[in-house]
Amino acid sequence: MSTMTLHTSAIDRLCKRNVELSAFSTYGIGGSANYLAMPETANDLADLLQDCRKRGMPWYIFGMGSNILFPDEPKHDLVFISLKNLVELRVSGDKWYVSSGAPMSLLSLMGLMGGTDLLDFTFLLPGCVGAGIYMNAKYNARQICDILDTVYYIDTMDSSLKVQSITVADCLFAYKQSIFQQHPWIIVGADLNIPVSSEEQISMTSELLTEWKTRGSHPSSLPSFFSFFLGEVHALAGRGIETPQSMLDIIKYRTSKRHFDYPSCGSVFKNNYDYGVAVGSLVDQLNMKGTEYGGAIISPHHGNMILNQKHAKATDILYLMNLISESINNHFGFVPEPEIVLV
Ligand SMILES: Cc1cc2nc3c(=O)[nH]c(=O)nc-3n(C[C@H](O)[C@H](O)[C@H](O)COP(=O)(O)OP(=O)(O)OC[C@H]3O[C@@H](n4cnc5c(N)ncnc54)[C@H](O)[C@@H]3O)c2cc1C
Repeated sequence: MSTMTLHTSAIDRLCKRNVELSAFSTYGIGGSANYLAMPETANDLADLLQDCRKRGMPWYIFGMGSNILFPDEPKHDLVFISLKNLVELRVSGDKWYVSSGAPMSLLSLMGLMGGTDLLDFTFLLPGCVGAGIYMNAKYNARQICDILDTVYYIDTMDSSLKVQSITVADCLFAYKQSIFQQHPWIIVGADLNIPVSSEEQISMTSELLTEWKTRGSHPSSLPSFFSFFLGEVHALAGRGIETPQSMLDIIKYRTSKRHFDYPSCGSVFKNNYDYGVAVGSLVDQLNMKGTEYGGAIISPHHGNMILNQKHAKATDILYLMNLISESINNHFGFVPEPEIVLV
């Protein structure tokens, strides 16, 4: 190691300066960040956190930015850390270890190559595995917690910042909830409870992950995410691995709801299961679909999605969120809980 490397702080070594956050969110929204890092290893991540602590600088951890509304004017000393380059896939014994930055959608193709349908629900689910665990991402009745065995994380209150583990039973998973939302813990990866089927499955999945890192993951754009995974599923079909009906149904559902046509962050509010009617249907009943403000619009196709139609600002999205929230409260008597994370 050179003297230069020894004396360069992790922030100086790993952060890019003056980066537009809009390229790191599927909303295409966010102002210029003074510091942004994309560590490729858990060690680099821990070095960054130590350095932030030493210099008294706050940090913000995220993945693909498909559930985040970045501010138009980020705080000048905030260090943004995206884990989407923390992509590692290992098999030890009969278990898969997948690191936080791997795209959730990759898991569906891994399952397809291994002959199991247990991972189909992750197909075309935007975002990385780490955030999927943090949010307990779901599709229909299947949730990320269904496929986990052990989660590995860094407790940022622990001075050593060493990687610790927790079994799925202790993660307090519920609808869009996990223990990771209650503690300042950063997920670095997880063991899956999915069988490993063959050497070929392992090598094909690794190749796919490398492809994603080199040509798919940046910028965080929904059309390129969609075309990458659609292209890969077609390529597998060309090699004789047929696309199952469950995945064809997902393509049909997400394209019919126009999920990948405009920049968005998916559903803006969590559904209120006590009330029993989905937020999207309530917005529909209130005739609010298609309402515009600034560059933002409530999706004409899905009442719980607000799209960035024409260079929207974060403040435009927030305006429409407040409008929906107040209208639902006035007419149906409850304030919906935001699903997207406001930074
Ligand atoms: C078109 C569209 C459709 C969608 N459909 C669905 C759907 O069907 N079901 C569903 O559940 N979601 C859906 N989403 C939302 C999104 O896919 C999930 O919330 C996903 O888990 C977000 O992953 P991400 O990497 O983009 O997270 P980000 O948006 O980058 O981060 C989300 C949150 O996770 C935290 N976080 C990220 N990584 C870590 C980590 N390693 N450790 C600790 N905390 C972390 C961040 O601080 C932030 O609070 C959709 C989004 C879009 C744009």
